[in-house]
Amino acid sequence: MQIYDKNNSTLSEIHKTMKTITVAKGDGIGPEIMDATLKILFAAGAKLKFEEIEVGEKVYLAGNSSGISQESWDIIRKNKVFLKAPITTPQGGGYKSLNVTTRKFLGLYSNVRPCKSLHPFVETKHPIMDVVIVRENEEDLYAGIEHQQTDEVVQCLKLISRPGCEKIIRYAFEYAKQQNRKKVTCFTKDNIMKQTDGLFHKVFDEIATEYPEIENEHWIIDIGAAKLADTPEAFDVIVMPNLYGDVLSDVAAQITGSVGLAGSANIGEECAMFEAIHGSAPRRAGQNVANPSGLLQGAIMMLNHIGQSTVAEKIQNAWLTTLEEGTHTYDIYKEGVSKIKVGTNEFADTVISNLGKTPQHLAPVKYDSTYQMVLPKYKRKNAAKKELEGIDLFVHWTGENPNELAEKVSKIAAKNLKLSMITNRGIKVWPEGFKETFCTDHWRCRFKPINGDEIEKEQIIESLKNALNLGVDVVKTENLYRFDGVAAYSLGQGQ
Ligand code: NAD
Repeated sequence: MQIYDKNNSTLSEIHKTMKTITVAKGDGIGPEIMDATLKILFAAGAKLKFEEIEVGEKVYLAGNSSGISQESWDIIRKNKVFLKAPITTPQGGGYKSLNVTTRKFLGLYSNVRPCKSLHPFVETKHPIMDVVIVRENEEDLYAGIEHQQTDEVVQCLKLISRPGCEKIIRYAFEYAKQQNRKKVTCFTKDNIMKQTDGLFHKVFDEIATEYPEIENEHWIIDIGAAKLADTPEAFDVIVMPNLYGDVLSDVAAQITGSVGLAGSANIGEECAMFEAIHGSAPRRAGQNVANPSGLLQGAIMMLNHIGQSTVAEKIQNAWLTTLEEGTHTYDIYKEGVSKIKVGTNEFADTVISNLGKTPQHLAPVKYDSTYQMVLPKYKRKNAAKKELEGIDLFVHWTGENPNELAEKVSKIAAKNLKLSMITNRGIKVWPEGFKETFCTDHWRCRFKPINGDEIEKEQIIESLKNALNLGVDVVKTENLYRFDGVAAYSLGQGQ
Protein backbone atom coordinates (compact mmCIF):
# COMPACT_ATOMS: atom_id res chain seq x y z
CA MET A 1 0.00 0.00 0.00
CA GLN A 2 1.19 3.50 -0.74
CA ILE A 3 0.50 6.37 1.60
CA TYR A 4 0.52 9.79 0.00
CA ASP A 5 0.56 13.05 1.87
CA LYS A 6 -1.53 16.12 1.05
CA ASN A 7 0.86 17.03 -1.73
CA ASN A 8 0.82 13.68 -3.48
CA SER A 9 4.21 12.60 -2.17
CA THR A 10 4.81 9.13 -0.82
CA LEU A 11 6.12 9.76 2.66
CA SER A 12 9.30 7.85 1.94
CA GLU A 13 9.92 10.06 -1.05
CA ILE A 14 9.53 13.46 0.50
CA HIS A 15 12.59 15.36 -0.52
CA LYS A 16 13.30 18.12 1.88
CA THR A 17 16.67 18.70 0.26
CA MET A 18 17.91 18.94 -3.29
CA LYS A 19 15.94 16.82 -5.75
CA THR A 20 17.12 15.86 -9.22
CA ILE A 21 14.38 15.88 -11.83
CA THR A 22 14.39 15.12 -15.53
CA VAL A 23 13.56 18.00 -17.87
CA ALA A 24 12.64 17.90 -21.57
CA LYS A 25 12.22 21.21 -23.36
CA GLY A 26 10.18 19.68 -26.18
CA ASP A 27 9.18 21.29 -29.46
CA GLY A 28 7.45 24.41 -30.79
CA ILE A 29 6.87 26.80 -27.89
CA GLY A 30 8.28 24.16 -25.49
CA PRO A 31 11.84 25.55 -25.04
CA GLU A 32 10.55 29.11 -24.40
CA ILE A 33 7.96 28.13 -21.82
CA MET A 34 10.35 25.68 -20.16
CA ASP A 35 13.10 28.31 -19.84
CA ALA A 36 10.59 30.76 -18.36
CA THR A 37 9.29 28.14 -15.93
CA LEU A 38 12.73 27.02 -14.74
CA LYS A 39 13.78 30.64 -14.27
CA ILE A 40 10.79 31.18 -11.95
CA LEU A 41 11.41 27.92 -10.04
CA PHE A 42 15.02 28.77 -9.33
CA ALA A 43 14.27 32.41 -8.46
CA ALA A 44 11.72 31.15 -5.92
CA GLY A 45 14.33 28.92 -4.28
CA ALA A 46 13.22 25.49 -5.49
CA LYS A 47 15.78 22.93 -4.33
CA LEU A 48 16.15 21.30 -7.71
CA LYS A 49 18.82 19.99 -10.00
CA PHE A 50 17.82 18.84 -13.44
CA GLU A 51 19.07 16.48 -16.08
CA GLU A 52 17.95 17.48 -19.54
CA ILE A 53 16.99 14.95 -22.18
CA GLU A 54 16.09 15.38 -25.83
CA VAL A 55 12.69 13.97 -26.84
CA GLY A 56 10.19 14.66 -29.58
CA GLU A 57 10.34 15.87 -33.14
CA LYS A 58 14.12 15.83 -33.67
CA VAL A 59 14.39 12.34 -32.22
CA TYR A 60 11.46 11.10 -34.33
CA LEU A 61 12.85 12.63 -37.51
CA ALA A 62 16.28 11.15 -36.80
CA GLY A 63 14.59 7.78 -37.34
CA ASN A 64 13.53 6.81 -33.80
CA SER A 65 9.80 6.09 -34.19
CA SER A 66 9.18 6.33 -30.42
CA GLY A 67 10.66 9.86 -30.13
CA ILE A 68 12.94 8.95 -27.21
CA SER A 69 16.25 7.09 -26.79
CA GLN A 70 17.02 4.28 -24.33
CA GLU A 71 19.44 6.56 -22.43
CA SER A 72 16.64 9.09 -21.91
CA TRP A 73 14.36 6.36 -20.52
CA ASP A 74 17.12 5.40 -18.10
CA ILE A 75 17.38 8.99 -16.86
CA ILE A 76 13.60 9.35 -16.46
CA ARG A 77 13.36 6.07 -14.53
CA LYS A 78 16.29 6.98 -12.30
CA ASN A 79 14.99 10.43 -11.34
CA LYS A 80 11.29 9.37 -11.17
CA VAL A 81 10.04 12.95 -11.54
CA PHE A 82 9.79 14.37 -15.05
CA LEU A 83 8.94 17.94 -16.08
CA LYS A 84 8.09 17.89 -19.76
CA ALA A 85 7.30 20.66 -22.21
CA PRO A 86 4.91 19.83 -25.05
CA ILE A 87 6.23 17.93 -28.02
CA THR A 88 5.19 17.64 -31.65
CA THR A 89 4.25 14.19 -32.90
CA PRO A 90 4.97 14.26 -36.65
CA GLN A 91 1.90 13.60 -38.81
CA GLY A 92 1.64 10.33 -40.68
CA GLY A 93 1.97 6.68 -39.91
CA GLY A 94 4.67 5.03 -37.87
CA TYR A 95 5.19 7.69 -35.16
CA LYS A 96 3.76 6.69 -31.78
CA SER A 97 2.80 9.54 -29.43
CA LEU A 98 5.57 9.87 -26.84
CA ASN A 99 3.11 11.34 -24.34
CA VAL A 100 0.93 8.27 -24.46
CA THR A 101 3.96 5.94 -24.39
CA THR A 102 5.46 7.70 -21.36
CA ARG A 103 2.21 7.61 -19.40
CA LYS A 104 1.80 3.90 -20.08
CA PHE A 105 5.42 2.72 -19.73
CA LEU A 106 5.73 4.47 -16.38
CA GLY A 107 2.27 3.43 -15.18
CA LEU A 108 1.11 7.04 -14.76
CA TYR A 109 -2.52 6.05 -14.41
CA SER A 110 -3.88 9.31 -13.08
CA ASN A 111 -3.96 12.58 -14.96
CA VAL A 112 -5.09 15.48 -12.79
CA ARG A 113 -6.07 18.70 -14.52
CA PRO A 114 -7.33 21.59 -12.37
CA CYS A 115 -9.22 24.26 -14.35
CA LYS A 116 -10.09 27.38 -12.35
CA SER A 117 -11.39 30.78 -13.46
CA LEU A 118 -9.47 33.89 -12.50
CA HIS A 119 -12.41 36.27 -12.81
CA PRO A 120 -12.44 39.26 -13.19
CA PHE A 121 -8.76 39.36 -14.10
CA VAL A 122 -8.90 36.86 -16.95
CA GLU A 123 -11.97 37.19 -19.14
CA THR A 124 -14.26 34.17 -19.00
CA LYS A 125 -17.96 33.45 -19.39
CA HIS A 126 -17.71 31.31 -16.24
CA PRO A 127 -16.58 33.46 -13.32
CA ILE A 128 -16.95 30.88 -10.56
CA MET A 129 -15.61 27.81 -12.29
CA ASP A 130 -13.31 25.56 -10.24
CA VAL A 131 -13.25 22.07 -11.73
CA VAL A 132 -10.65 19.33 -11.49
CA ILE A 133 -10.70 16.72 -14.23
CA VAL A 134 -9.24 13.38 -13.21
CA ARG A 135 -8.60 11.54 -16.46
CA GLU A 136 -7.77 7.85 -16.68
CA ASN A 137 -4.43 7.86 -18.43
CA GLU A 138 -3.49 4.40 -19.71
CA GLU A 139 -6.48 2.64 -21.24
CA ASP A 140 -9.53 3.18 -23.41
CA LEU A 141 -9.05 3.87 -27.12
CA TYR A 142 -5.51 5.01 -26.21
CA ALA A 143 -4.47 1.37 -25.99
CA GLY A 144 -3.50 2.20 -29.58
CA ILE A 145 -4.56 -1.15 -31.00
CA GLU A 146 -5.90 -0.47 -34.46
CA HIS A 147 -6.29 -2.66 -37.51
CA GLN A 148 -7.60 -2.38 -41.03
CA GLN A 149 -9.71 -5.47 -41.52
CA THR A 150 -11.33 -5.07 -44.92
CA ASP A 151 -11.10 -2.58 -47.81
CA GLU A 152 -13.79 -0.50 -46.15
CA VAL A 153 -13.41 -0.97 -42.40
CA VAL A 154 -10.77 -0.15 -39.80
CA GLN A 155 -11.12 -0.78 -36.09
CA CYS A 156 -9.71 0.56 -32.81
CA LEU A 157 -9.94 -1.53 -29.64
CA LYS A 158 -11.32 0.20 -26.58
CA LEU A 159 -9.80 -1.55 -23.57
CA ILE A 160 -11.11 -0.84 -20.08
CA SER A 161 -9.91 -2.94 -17.15
CA ARG A 162 -11.18 -3.38 -13.61
CA PRO A 163 -7.77 -2.52 -12.08
CA GLY A 164 -7.62 0.58 -14.31
CA CYS A 165 -11.10 1.70 -13.20
CA GLU A 166 -10.50 0.98 -9.53
CA LYS A 167 -7.20 2.86 -9.46
CA ILE A 168 -8.40 6.02 -11.18
CA ILE A 169 -11.76 6.19 -9.41
CA ARG A 170 -10.20 5.67 -5.99
CA TYR A 171 -7.63 8.32 -6.86
CA ALA A 172 -10.45 10.77 -7.71
CA PHE A 173 -12.18 10.19 -4.36
CA GLU A 174 -8.92 10.33 -2.39
CA TYR A 175 -7.97 13.54 -4.22
CA ALA A 176 -11.39 15.03 -3.41
CA LYS A 177 -10.97 14.10 0.25
CA GLN A 178 -7.46 15.51 0.41
CA GLN A 179 -8.37 18.77 -1.30
CA ASN A 180 -11.58 19.25 0.70
CA ARG A 181 -13.76 18.95 -2.34
CA LYS A 182 -17.39 18.05 -1.94
CA LYS A 183 -18.43 16.06 -4.98
CA VAL A 184 -17.07 13.56 -7.49
CA THR A 185 -18.92 13.21 -10.79
CA CYS A 186 -18.39 10.36 -13.25
CA PHE A 187 -18.88 10.80 -17.03
CA THR A 188 -19.39 7.76 -19.26
CA LYS A 189 -21.44 6.66 -22.26
CA ASP A 190 -22.62 3.43 -20.70
CA ASN A 191 -26.05 3.62 -22.26
CA ILE A 192 -24.27 2.65 -25.51
CA MET A 193 -21.01 0.97 -24.41
CA LYS A 194 -22.49 -1.31 -21.79
CA GLN A 195 -19.42 -3.49 -21.27
CA THR A 196 -16.58 -0.93 -21.32
CA ASP A 197 -18.11 2.29 -20.01
CA GLY A 198 -20.53 0.08 -18.08
CA LEU A 199 -17.60 -1.32 -16.08
CA PHE A 200 -16.26 2.18 -15.37
CA HIS A 201 -19.67 3.28 -14.06
CA LYS A 202 -20.16 0.11 -12.02
CA VAL A 203 -16.76 0.49 -10.32
CA PHE A 204 -17.55 4.17 -9.68
CA ASP A 205 -20.75 3.17 -7.87
CA GLU A 206 -18.87 0.55 -5.85
CA ILE A 207 -16.05 2.85 -4.74
CA ALA A 208 -18.36 5.81 -4.07
CA THR A 209 -19.97 3.83 -1.24
CA GLU A 210 -16.61 3.93 0.60
CA TYR A 211 -16.76 7.75 0.68
CA PRO A 212 -20.16 8.62 2.17
CA GLU A 213 -18.94 12.11 3.09
CA ILE A 214 -18.38 12.96 -0.59
CA GLU A 215 -21.36 13.48 -2.87
CA ASN A 216 -21.28 11.39 -6.02
CA GLU A 217 -23.20 11.40 -9.28
CA HIS A 218 -23.01 9.99 -12.79
CA TRP A 219 -23.78 11.81 -16.04
CA ILE A 220 -24.00 10.43 -19.55
CA ILE A 221 -21.04 12.14 -21.21
CA ASP A 222 -22.94 13.98 -23.96
CA ILE A 223 -25.26 15.93 -21.70
CA GLY A 224 -22.53 16.06 -19.03
CA ALA A 225 -20.15 17.73 -21.50
CA ALA A 226 -22.85 20.20 -22.54
CA LYS A 227 -23.53 21.03 -18.90
CA LEU A 228 -19.79 21.40 -18.20
CA ALA A 229 -19.37 23.84 -21.09
CA ASP A 230 -22.48 25.79 -20.06
CA THR A 231 -22.56 25.56 -16.25
CA PRO A 232 -19.14 24.43 -15.01
CA GLU A 233 -19.92 25.69 -11.50
CA ALA A 234 -22.22 22.64 -11.17
CA PHE A 235 -19.13 20.42 -11.01
CA ASP A 236 -16.26 19.89 -8.60
CA VAL A 237 -14.07 16.82 -9.35
CA ILE A 238 -14.97 14.88 -12.52
CA VAL A 239 -13.51 11.44 -13.23
CA MET A 240 -13.71 9.88 -16.66
CA PRO A 241 -12.12 7.45 -19.10
CA ASN A 242 -9.12 8.56 -21.15
CA LEU A 243 -10.57 9.95 -24.40
CA TYR A 244 -13.41 11.91 -22.78
CA GLY A 245 -10.92 13.32 -20.25
CA ASP A 246 -8.52 14.36 -22.99
CA VAL A 247 -11.21 16.27 -24.89
CA LEU A 248 -13.05 17.75 -21.92
CA SER A 249 -9.97 18.94 -20.05
CA ASP A 250 -9.06 21.07 -23.09
CA VAL A 251 -12.63 22.42 -23.15
CA ALA A 252 -12.54 23.08 -19.41
CA ALA A 253 -9.15 24.85 -19.57
CA GLN A 254 -10.20 26.92 -22.57
CA ILE A 255 -13.42 28.17 -20.95
CA THR A 256 -11.54 29.39 -17.88
CA GLY A 257 -9.90 31.85 -20.30
CA SER A 258 -7.17 30.01 -22.22
CA VAL A 259 -5.89 26.52 -22.81
CA GLY A 260 -2.51 28.08 -21.99
CA LEU A 261 -3.45 28.41 -18.29
CA ALA A 262 -3.80 24.81 -17.17
CA GLY A 263 -1.22 22.32 -15.95
CA SER A 264 -1.40 18.60 -15.60
CA ALA A 265 0.03 16.00 -13.21
CA ASN A 266 0.47 12.42 -14.40
CA ILE A 267 0.79 10.30 -11.28
CA GLY A 268 1.84 6.66 -11.03
CA GLU A 269 2.83 4.37 -8.18
CA GLU A 270 6.55 5.06 -8.71
CA CYS A 271 7.03 7.90 -11.17
CA ALA A 272 5.28 11.14 -12.02
CA MET A 273 5.32 13.49 -14.99
CA PHE A 274 4.21 17.12 -14.99
CA GLU A 275 3.32 19.18 -18.04
CA ALA A 276 1.01 21.80 -19.52
CA ILE A 277 -2.23 20.45 -20.94
CA HIS A 278 -1.77 22.26 -24.25
CA GLY A 279 0.41 21.17 -27.15
CA SER A 280 3.51 22.61 -28.81
CA ALA A 281 1.59 25.37 -30.69
CA PRO A 282 4.16 25.37 -33.55
CA ARG A 283 2.66 28.51 -35.14
CA ARG A 284 3.57 30.50 -32.02
CA ALA A 285 7.07 29.09 -31.64
CA GLY A 286 10.17 31.28 -31.43
CA GLN A 287 8.23 34.55 -31.06
CA ASN A 288 8.37 35.01 -27.27
CA VAL A 289 4.55 35.20 -27.16
CA ALA A 290 3.44 31.91 -25.57
CA ASN A 291 1.91 31.84 -22.11
CA PRO A 292 4.17 29.79 -19.81
CA SER A 293 1.40 29.46 -17.19
CA GLY A 294 0.27 25.93 -18.12
CA LEU A 295 3.75 24.49 -17.68
CA LEU A 296 4.28 26.62 -14.57
CA GLN A 297 1.07 25.17 -13.10
CA GLY A 298 2.42 21.68 -13.88
CA ALA A 299 5.69 22.62 -12.17
CA ILE A 300 3.81 23.85 -9.08
CA MET A 301 2.04 20.49 -8.84
CA MET A 302 5.49 18.90 -9.16
CA LEU A 303 6.88 20.97 -6.27
CA ASN A 304 3.95 19.87 -4.12
CA HIS A 305 4.56 16.27 -5.17
CA ILE A 306 8.21 16.35 -4.07
CA GLY A 307 7.43 18.03 -0.77
CA GLN A 308 8.52 21.58 -1.66
CA SER A 309 5.11 23.09 -0.91
CA THR A 310 6.41 26.33 0.56
CA VAL A 311 8.11 27.17 -2.74
CA ALA A 312 5.03 26.00 -4.65
CA GLU A 313 2.85 28.32 -2.58
CA LYS A 314 5.19 31.28 -3.06
CA ILE A 315 5.17 30.85 -6.86
CA GLN A 316 1.41 30.33 -7.08
CA ASN A 317 0.70 33.45 -5.07
CA ALA A 318 3.16 35.46 -7.21
CA TRP A 319 1.50 34.10 -10.35
CA LEU A 320 -1.98 35.04 -9.08
CA THR A 321 -0.65 38.51 -8.21
CA THR A 322 0.78 38.89 -11.72
CA LEU A 323 -2.53 38.00 -13.35
CA GLU A 324 -4.44 40.20 -10.95
CA GLU A 325 -2.17 43.13 -11.79
CA GLY A 326 -3.15 42.69 -15.44
CA THR A 327 0.21 41.55 -16.80
CA HIS A 328 -1.01 39.20 -19.49
CA THR A 329 0.29 37.26 -22.48
CA TYR A 330 -1.56 37.63 -25.80
CA ASP A 331 -3.89 34.66 -25.27
CA ILE A 332 -5.58 36.22 -22.22
CA TYR A 333 -4.99 39.89 -23.04
CA LYS A 334 -8.27 41.83 -23.26
CA GLU A 335 -8.62 45.59 -23.72
CA GLY A 336 -10.27 46.99 -20.59
CA VAL A 337 -9.41 43.97 -18.44
CA SER A 338 -5.66 43.61 -18.94
CA LYS A 339 -3.10 46.34 -18.18
CA ILE A 340 -0.09 45.30 -20.20
CA LYS A 341 0.56 42.75 -22.92
CA VAL A 342 3.84 40.94 -22.39
CA GLY A 343 5.85 38.15 -23.97
CA THR A 344 6.91 34.87 -22.39
CA ASN A 345 10.13 36.24 -20.85
CA GLU A 346 8.57 39.41 -19.50
CA PHE A 347 5.73 37.43 -17.96
CA ALA A 348 8.25 35.22 -16.15
CA ASP A 349 10.19 38.29 -14.97
CA THR A 350 7.01 39.82 -13.56
CA VAL A 351 6.15 36.62 -11.68
CA ILE A 352 9.68 36.68 -10.26
CA SER A 353 9.32 40.31 -9.19
CA ASN A 354 6.09 39.34 -7.39
CA LEU A 355 7.63 36.47 -5.41
CA GLY A 356 6.80 37.03 -1.75
CA LYS A 357 3.55 38.91 -2.52
CA THR A 358 0.06 37.52 -2.03
CA PRO A 359 -2.85 38.39 -4.29
CA GLN A 360 -5.21 41.11 -3.03
CA HIS A 361 -8.43 40.01 -4.72
CA LEU A 362 -8.00 36.40 -5.81
CA ALA A 363 -7.82 33.93 -2.93
CA PRO A 364 -4.19 33.28 -1.95
CA VAL A 365 -3.22 29.61 -1.82
CA LYS A 366 -2.09 27.73 1.25
CA TYR A 367 -0.86 24.19 0.68
CA ASP A 368 -0.99 22.29 3.93
CA SER A 369 -0.63 18.58 4.43
CA THR A 370 -3.04 17.01 6.85
CA TYR A 371 -4.76 14.20 4.95
CA GLN A 372 -2.68 11.35 3.63
CA MET A 373 -4.01 9.82 0.41
CA VAL A 374 -4.49 6.07 0.72
CA LEU A 375 -3.99 4.27 -2.56
CA PRO A 376 -3.87 0.51 -2.04
CA LYS A 377 -2.33 -1.68 -4.70
CA TYR A 378 -4.88 -3.52 -6.81
CA LYS A 379 -5.79 -6.94 -5.47
CA ARG A 380 -6.91 -9.43 -8.09
CA LYS A 381 -10.45 -10.72 -7.41
CA ASN A 382 -11.42 -14.38 -7.39
CA ALA A 383 -11.93 -15.64 -10.92
CA ALA A 384 -15.55 -15.76 -12.09
CA LYS A 385 -17.09 -18.86 -13.62
CA LYS A 386 -16.35 -18.42 -17.31
CA GLU A 387 -18.36 -20.30 -19.94
CA LEU A 388 -17.85 -20.15 -23.70
CA GLU A 389 -21.25 -19.93 -25.33
CA GLY A 390 -20.56 -18.94 -28.89
CA ILE A 391 -18.30 -17.16 -31.37
CA ASP A 392 -18.42 -14.11 -33.57
CA LEU A 393 -16.57 -14.57 -36.85
CA PHE A 394 -15.93 -11.33 -38.71
CA VAL A 395 -15.98 -11.86 -42.45
CA HIS A 396 -14.73 -9.76 -45.37
CA TRP A 397 -17.40 -10.13 -48.05
CA THR A 398 -18.30 -7.78 -50.90
CA GLY A 399 -21.80 -9.03 -51.66
CA GLU A 400 -24.92 -7.04 -50.87
CA ASN A 401 -27.63 -9.47 -49.87
CA PRO A 402 -27.21 -10.75 -46.29
CA ASN A 403 -29.36 -13.80 -47.13
CA GLU A 404 -26.66 -14.92 -49.57
CA LEU A 405 -23.98 -14.49 -46.92
CA ALA A 406 -26.08 -16.38 -44.39
CA GLU A 407 -26.35 -19.31 -46.79
CA LYS A 408 -22.61 -19.26 -47.40
CA VAL A 409 -21.44 -18.97 -43.79
CA SER A 410 -24.02 -21.42 -42.43
CA LYS A 411 -21.93 -24.08 -44.13
CA ILE A 412 -18.81 -23.27 -42.11
CA ALA A 413 -20.44 -23.90 -38.72
CA ALA A 414 -18.71 -26.67 -36.79
CA LYS A 415 -20.72 -29.65 -35.60
CA ASN A 416 -23.38 -28.58 -33.08
CA LEU A 417 -23.04 -24.90 -33.97
CA LYS A 418 -25.43 -22.83 -36.03
CA LEU A 419 -25.49 -19.32 -37.44
CA SER A 420 -27.73 -17.21 -35.20
CA MET A 421 -27.24 -13.66 -36.46
CA ILE A 422 -25.32 -11.44 -38.90
CA THR A 423 -24.67 -7.78 -38.19
CA ASN A 424 -22.99 -5.06 -40.23
CA ARG A 425 -21.38 -2.24 -38.24
CA GLY A 426 -23.28 -3.60 -35.24
CA ILE A 427 -26.80 -3.54 -36.71
CA LYS A 428 -28.61 -6.81 -37.28
CA VAL A 429 -29.06 -7.52 -41.00
CA TRP A 430 -29.95 -11.23 -40.79
CA PRO A 431 -32.40 -12.74 -40.00
CA GLU A 432 -35.04 -10.16 -40.86
CA GLY A 433 -32.90 -7.15 -41.61
CA PHE A 434 -34.14 -3.96 -43.25
CA LYS A 435 -33.34 -3.42 -46.92
CA GLU A 436 -32.72 0.26 -46.08
CA THR A 437 -29.71 -0.57 -43.83
CA PHE A 438 -26.43 0.46 -45.44
CA CYS A 439 -23.86 -2.34 -45.44
CA THR A 440 -20.07 -2.34 -45.76
CA ASP A 441 -17.79 -5.26 -46.61
CA HIS A 442 -17.32 -6.18 -42.89
CA TRP A 443 -19.83 -8.68 -41.45
CA ARG A 444 -20.10 -10.17 -37.99
CA CYS A 445 -21.48 -13.71 -38.10
CA ARG A 446 -22.54 -15.06 -34.72
CA PHE A 447 -22.56 -18.81 -34.08
CA LYS A 448 -24.29 -20.41 -31.12
CA PRO A 449 -24.61 -24.04 -30.02
CA ILE A 450 -27.56 -26.09 -31.25
CA ASN A 451 -27.75 -28.17 -28.09
CA GLY A 452 -26.52 -27.28 -24.64
CA ASP A 453 -25.19 -23.90 -23.77
CA GLU A 454 -21.41 -24.32 -23.83
CA ILE A 455 -19.06 -24.87 -26.74
CA GLU A 456 -15.53 -26.24 -27.00
CA LYS A 457 -12.54 -24.34 -28.38
CA GLU A 458 -12.16 -27.15 -30.96
CA GLN A 459 -15.44 -26.02 -32.53
CA ILE A 460 -13.88 -22.62 -33.22
CA ILE A 461 -10.88 -24.22 -34.89
CA GLU A 462 -13.15 -26.50 -36.91
CA SER A 463 -15.27 -23.54 -38.05
CA LEU A 464 -12.15 -21.62 -39.10
CA LYS A 465 -10.88 -24.63 -41.05
CA ASN A 466 -14.24 -24.94 -42.79
CA ALA A 467 -14.09 -21.23 -43.66
CA LEU A 468 -10.66 -21.69 -45.18
CA ASN A 469 -11.82 -24.68 -47.24
CA LEU A 470 -14.96 -22.88 -48.47
CA GLY A 471 -13.15 -19.61 -49.31
CA VAL A 472 -14.86 -17.51 -46.58
CA ASP A 473 -12.43 -14.71 -45.60
CA VAL A 474 -12.53 -14.60 -41.78
CA VAL A 475 -10.63 -11.50 -40.59
CA LYS A 476 -11.16 -11.86 -36.84
CA THR A 477 -12.82 -14.07 -34.23
CA GLU A 478 -14.22 -13.10 -30.85
CA ASN A 479 -15.26 -15.61 -28.19
CA LEU A 480 -18.62 -15.07 -26.51
CA TYR A 481 -18.42 -15.68 -22.78
CA ARG A 482 -20.76 -15.78 -19.82
CA PHE A 483 -19.14 -14.68 -16.57
CA ASP A 484 -20.91 -16.06 -13.49
CA GLY A 485 -23.87 -16.83 -15.68
CA VAL A 486 -24.21 -13.36 -17.24
CA ALA A 487 -23.69 -12.90 -20.99
CA ALA A 488 -20.67 -10.58 -21.29
CA TYR A 489 -20.88 -9.36 -24.88
CA SER A 490 -23.07 -6.98 -26.81
CA LEU A 491 -26.23 -8.02 -28.59
CA GLY A 492 -26.73 -6.97 -32.19
CA GLN A 493 -28.45 -3.61 -32.50
CA GLY A 494 -32.08 -4.46 -33.20
CA GLN A 495 -31.68 -8.03 -31.91
P1 NAD B 1 -1.89 23.24 -29.23
O1 NAD B 1 -2.40 23.11 -27.85
O2 NAD B 1 -0.44 23.09 -29.44
O3 NAD B 1 -2.27 24.67 -29.78
C1 NAD B 1 -3.55 25.08 -30.15
C2 NAD B 1 -3.63 26.59 -30.09
O4 NAD B 1 -3.78 26.96 -28.73
C3 NAD B 1 -2.37 27.31 -30.55
O5 NAD B 1 -2.38 27.58 -31.91
C4 NAD B 1 -2.42 28.58 -29.74
O6 NAD B 1 -3.27 29.51 -30.35
C5 NAD B 1 -3.06 28.15 -28.45
N1 NAD B 1 -2.07 27.85 -27.40
C6 NAD B 1 -1.66 26.65 -26.97
N2 NAD B 1 -0.78 26.77 -26.00
C7 NAD B 1 -0.61 28.09 -25.80
C8 NAD B 1 0.20 28.86 -24.90
N3 NAD B 1 1.00 28.29 -24.00
N4 NAD B 1 0.13 30.21 -24.98
C9 NAD B 1 -0.67 30.79 -25.84
N5 NAD B 1 -1.46 30.13 -26.71
C10 NAD B 1 -1.43 28.79 -26.68
O7 NAD B 1 -2.69 22.19 -30.13
P2 NAD B 1 -2.42 21.66 -31.60
O8 NAD B 1 -2.10 22.83 -32.50
O9 NAD B 1 -3.57 20.80 -31.92
O10 NAD B 1 -1.14 20.73 -31.49
C11 NAD B 1 0.16 21.09 -31.88
C12 NAD B 1 1.12 19.93 -31.62
O11 NAD B 1 1.18 19.67 -30.22
C13 NAD B 1 0.73 18.60 -32.28
O12 NAD B 1 1.89 18.03 -32.84
C14 NAD B 1 0.23 17.76 -31.14
O13 NAD B 1 0.49 16.39 -31.36
C15 NAD B 1 1.09 18.27 -30.01
N6 NAD B 1 0.50 18.09 -28.66
C16 NAD B 1 1.37 17.78 -27.68
C17 NAD B 1 0.91 17.64 -26.37
C18 NAD B 1 1.90 17.29 -25.31
O14 NAD B 1 3.10 17.25 -25.57
N7 NAD B 1 1.46 17.04 -24.08
C19 NAD B 1 -0.45 17.84 -26.07
C20 NAD B 1 -1.32 18.18 -27.11
C21 NAD B 1 -0.83 18.32 -28.41
